[in-house]
Amino acid sequence: MNILKVGDQEKAACEKCAAFVTVIYQLRDVPFSDGSGLVKQVLVGVCEQCDQVCVLPQQSTPAVKCVLEKQRKPIESRVPAHMLDILNLASAEVGCGTEFAPYLIKYYVHALASRQMSANRLPRYLASDLAKGKAEKRISLKGQHIVEEVGALKSMTHIEKTSDLIRGVILKINDDIVQHKRQKPLNELKGIAAAVG
Ligand SMILES: [Zn+2]
Repeated sequence: MNILKVGDQEKAACEKCAAFVTVIYQLRDVPFSDGSGLVKQVLVGVCEQCDQVCVLPQQSTPAVKCVLEKQRKPIESRVPAHMLDILNLASAEVGCGTEFAPYLIKYYVHALASRQMSANRLPRYLASDLAKGKAEKRISLKGQHIVEEVGALKSMTHIEKTSDLIRGVILKINDDIVQHKRQKPLNELKGIAAAVG
């Protein structure tokens, strides 16, 4: 891939001018075509004649994708209050504060959905006494893969409701991290904590 710099020029097609024009690479705020958002200060090719953005270079697509991902709706679910306490205790085992809770769930959803961990026990956890309780606390999970992975995990485990699935995952976190301090997930979670902390 050819990496472009601010000020670089090349010939490209401009749709507006319906011509082959000189484009100059500049940082611009670029709105999405549907008006749903804006990518700030991203390198784009601007038509020398009409001053419109006409090229989005490959190196700028991760920045655009990042803004799109941030706009994506999170997965929302409600759980009993003690489930958040489990997440907070597990975060403390990793050496983190309460802000680590979403990463814990996402790590487990990924490991379970990709079969690096067995999901066999989730239905059993859901039948346990700890799974009960009024759903009074909200959990919000954002991310590029979480929607697909939650979907995959639901069909693997035949658990239909997202909030039930999240409960099962939290009870697995309780079993693995809070109760048994299993080293493999703990070590991997410490690595994630070092990267995001
Ligand atoms: Zn033009």
